[in-house]
Amino acid sequence: MILTETIKKNVYEAAMENFDLAANALELHPDVREMIKYPERILEVNLPVRMDDGHIHRFEGYRVQHSTARGPAKGGIRYHPNVTLDEVKALATWMTWKCAVVNIPFGGGKGGVTCSPKDMSQGELERMTRRYTASILPIIGPERDIPAPDVYTNSQIMAWIMDTYSMTKGYPIPGVVTGKPISLGGSLGRNEATGRGVFYTIQGACDHLELPLKEARVIVQGFGNAGSIAAQLLHSAGATVIAVNDSRGCVYNGTGLDVAKLIVHKEKTGNVLGFPAAEEIRPNELLALKCDILVPAALENAIDEENAVAVKAKIVAEAANGPVTPEGDKVLESKGIFVIPDILCNAGGVTVSYFEWVQDEQHLFWEAQDVYNRLERVMKTSFAEVLKIHLEHKVSVRTAANMLGIGRVAEATRLRGLYP
Ligand code: NAD
Repeated sequence: MILTETIKKNVYEAAMENFDLAANALELHPDVREMIKYPERILEVNLPVRMDDGHIHRFEGYRVQHSTARGPAKGGIRYHPNVTLDEVKALATWMTWKCAVVNIPFGGGKGGVTCSPKDMSQGELERMTRRYTASILPIIGPERDIPAPDVYTNSQIMAWIMDTYSMTKGYPIPGVVTGKPISLGGSLGRNEATGRGVFYTIQGACDHLELPLKEARVIVQGFGNAGSIAAQLLHSAGATVIAVNDSRGCVYNGTGLDVAKLIVHKEKTGNVLGFPAAEEIRPNELLALKCDILVPAALENAIDEENAVAVKAKIVAEAANGPVTPEGDKVLESKGIFVIPDILCNAGGVTVSYFEWVQDEQHLFWEAQDVYNRLERVMKTSFAEVLKIHLEHKVSVRTAANMLGIGRVAEATRLRGLYP
């Protein structure tokens, strides 16, 4: 069974449930909850696109701005067959708390188009992207809402968005999206930022739990941008990556996979299957393998109350957004597993997106090492702040992260005078 079969649960309800837990712990006034809990703006668009065979196909797309209390909305665009409005609302909500956790001056947004990018030609993808950009154009912009890549979108797609937006203004506006190619105003270090941020938070968790990273056995579910980079950095730090999967299947080697070679293999063949020196296992066996660190880096709801029972990791590092359901969370918590929640764990991506936007706005670009150093500082500071709340308030690490993020948004809203 792979994730696409279990994605039916409503992730927006999970996002609301997590909000309530943190809001209760913060003892937030009901008026404040009414003001900050729900998306500020939702845009639903129909995208008629000429396909290569000549017919017009209509795609449905969304852009949700959950909050602009702390700055312009910020969040990725997802191309996937399972994209729904509720999923985009959940992802936009998490972006608000995430930007606040790492204390960058952005609110939360997210976009998505329900489509099967793997079955589309480059021409079809480009025409759909340009149509989508034109449709959401009235609400995006460097001061309003800044999209970025998410699942199955990449720097090329960001380049088309930037170009379409700039065409309407008559001059180049790189700050409208992040995750762009370097030659169009992208930032060095953006491509690996999410995985790198995941790595820094895992380092923090290992220090806290006194678990030597060099002795750790790691499983990565979802070997895409976030998962493969996190795997590579963990491997370089001496950890042993024993199993990974992608949408096509799983590979396992109990003595360790050669991550760099696996990345090359995936680039060449499009998936992890067929990698030499590894055996194929079933996706549901992956989560049950004995390991120290499990990195869910694919999609939402990957770990629920049923399969959480089998998880043997000491640390679950949520590289993906919303990979653990609230019920799954309770099971992991009862087993004493240290969960690094998504809004902290994968915040490296949006942090370097912020750096990219700053560089674009200033027309002054930084060296890769500057980006890494600043990212490390942000991730380690945020990890320490969340850990402090977790220990002081005796709440789960997820609730602690939500308390930090939601508390900052509530404070900004109060200071803006949006509620008495
Ligand atoms: P990606 O498209 O690069 O990779 C996704 C990977 O997941 C692919 O390898 C794909 O094969 C795999 N996958 C898809 N369906 C699967 C399934 N059913 N079972 C196992 N694997 C499956 O996407 P990404 O950018 O790495 O994003 C992954 C997750 O990380 C998403 O939840 C995304 O929202 C989150 N995230 C990404 C970034 C970023 O900067 N890329 C930032 C923050 C959060």
